[in-house]
Amino acid sequence: MNTRVGAEAGALAAYAANPSQSRGRRYPEPESEMRTPFQRDRDRIIHCTAFRRLEYKTQVFVNHEGDLYRTRLTHSLEVAQIARSVARSLRVNEDLVEAIALAHDLGHTPFGHAGQDALDECMRPFGGFEHNLQSLRVVDELEERYGGFDGLNLCFETREGILKHCSAENARRLGPVAERFLLRRQATLEAQIANLADEIAYNNHDVDDGVRSGLISLEQLSGIPLVARHQEQAKYLFPGIGERRLVNETVRRVIHTLVVDLVDETRRRIALAKPASVEDVRSADPLVGFSQQVAAEGDALKVFLRGRLYRHPEVMRMTNKSRRIVRELFDAFRDEPRLLPPDHQERVAAHGARAIADYIAGMTDRYAIQLHRRLFLVD
Ligand code: MG
Repeated sequence: MNTRVGAEAGALAAYAANPSQSRGRRYPEPESEMRTPFQRDRDRIIHCTAFRRLEYKTQVFVNHEGDLYRTRLTHSLEVAQIARSVARSLRVNEDLVEAIALAHDLGHTPFGHAGQDALDECMRPFGGFEHNLQSLRVVDELEERYGGFDGLNLCFETREGILKHCSAENARRLGPVAERFLLRRQATLEAQIANLADEIAYNNHDVDDGVRSGLISLEQLSGIPLVARHQEQAKYLFPGIGERRLVNETVRRVIHTLVVDLVDETRRRIALAKPASVEDVRSADPLVGFSQQVAAEGDALKVFLRGRLYRHPEVMRMTNKSRRIVRELFDAFRDEPRLLPPDHQERVAAHGARAIADYIAGMTDRYAIQLHRRLFLVD
């Protein structure tokens, strides 16, 4: 049998996050009869409102630009799939990586990074806006599903995994969930895996969507070694292959290469560090990672995508519009909070500008566009 195939569930490694040793929930709750705490977290995330909204939020291409492009929802599912494969292979907790992966983008604004940057600018005088912190805020404060508490009351390990990065200032404010950023310690292997699975997912689906949209070409990509050698192999195996199949045959090979490299390199680091518990994982250098060569090749692909796709004039055209929509919505609500729905007016009275950011961040692309139209167009 392939040695990278992990054992069946139940045989977790000593360094895996163990649900029976979780640091627990903020509000104590009775255990579920049939699910572990991490399974329960995963289920709570799938049932929450912010998760359903991911379907109508931009990844790179604005949601209404085409039916075939990734959305935040399909992106999150791809991240979860990759993260679970890696977790199983390393015999760590699949339920925890899945929960973290599915929740990692819950705090994303409409319009992808353009929306996030615009909201951050608007929020500068009020502590800024960061989608990663917002994902934690969604699961800790904003979801309204339970009688006894705000948020989803997730386990410490899930919350910590969602908080991928954090400034020292924010870490002091957030307390235990962010303490590792002050103590320079690591999160669980599960959190580290979800983080790199995110990177594998977006680099590859952005190649796929980029070529599909016609904004980048396979020819341009043949200058990127990681993509080029798999493209060559696919052409060699399938002479005369059409472009669509060639993109798929290339991308699946790139994903495979990255996943296998991630598993092999992580195993190598684990063998050296010999962690015997989650505590050991926390105090070691990051254990999940790519080999030096593959990391460098991955970086070259990122640089390519940044220059050729994310800053393509067609993408910039939409980026620019989206920034304007977010900025104008924010200013309108700041100037006149009575434009907000009544429950949000109350929240603004209690929390100020932060409540406006919460409202805008929660919007889907099309909701933000429609609302902007209703606020600014005379009809
Ligand atoms: Mg992501």
